[in-house]
Amino acid sequence: MKLALVGYGKMGRAVESVAMERGHEVVARIDPTLDTREIGAATLGGADVAIEFTVPGVAVDNIAALAAAGVDAVVGTTGWHERLDEVATAVNAAGTGMVHATNFSLGVNLFLRLARMAAKMADALSEYDVHIREAHHRHKIDHPSGTAITLADILIEELARKESWSATLPDSAPHPQVLYVASERVGETAGSHIVGLEGPDDRIELRHEARTRAGFARGAVAAAEWIRGRSGVFTLDDMLAETFTS
Ligand code: NAD
Repeated sequence: MKLALVGYGKMGRAVESVAMERGHEVVARIDPTLDTREIGAATLGGADVAIEFTVPGVAVDNIAALAAAGVDAVVGTTGWHERLDEVATAVNAAGTGMVHATNFSLGVNLFLRLARMAAKMADALSEYDVHIREAHHRHKIDHPSGTAITLADILIEELARKESWSATLPDSAPHPQVLYVASERVGETAGSHIVGLEGPDDRIELRHEARTRAGFARGAVAAAEWIRGRSGVFTLDDMLAETFTS
């Protein structure tokens, strides 16, 4: 398959190496640092699918430009999902396909499903105080991480005692109906997420820790193989519904 990389930073390069391992051809690299900035037929090099890992402020325009160019997209950039409706309109109007995920690691997706099961069970045990902690490298721009937000949304769906999530503690005591998400930005870590259940007598933690970026890249390349020729907007969860049966 012919792939275009939109964003040739840490993730773009990780995707390139996994794509080459899997026998794909990288026909275009679009990144201002390479002096190839514009997305269009001339710069996409006949790509079947584009894989977009850039920065939150440009992702929406990039997705619209890829749709207008008739190229399917895998979008890993985080921090733009409040504009998903606008993006879906552009993709559906163009008749192209798109898979987006705040975390393309297949292991994280297993972790999200385990977190949902844990929250369903913890719903019956109100004495457990549920919270999220996440840590990433110091260069990451957005916080909480897109994965922590996905995790928070899942926990709120399953826990009747939590109504919303917040990344900031109030000046008064924490609100029992709020799920608190704490972020740490330090060093060069690839990323960790913890769902903590703090009980009166014990503590349960579900933890996912990424060791390298290759896990995200492998999921993104698998999504590129899956989306080719499909129309519409999908999440990685839609793709994995075929793999995980519960
Ligand atoms: P990075 O800073 O290493 O790379 C971003 C690249 O985007 C840079 O090279 C920058 O020059 C380029 N860029 C900026 N504007 C651009 C534009 N208009 N067009 C094309 N390229 C442009 O960052 P990274 O670690 O590669 O992460 C990129 C994004 O992916 C971030 O939002 C990060 O949070 C997210 N991310 C998602 C996953 C996932 O699995 N979904 C995993 C890791 C990182």
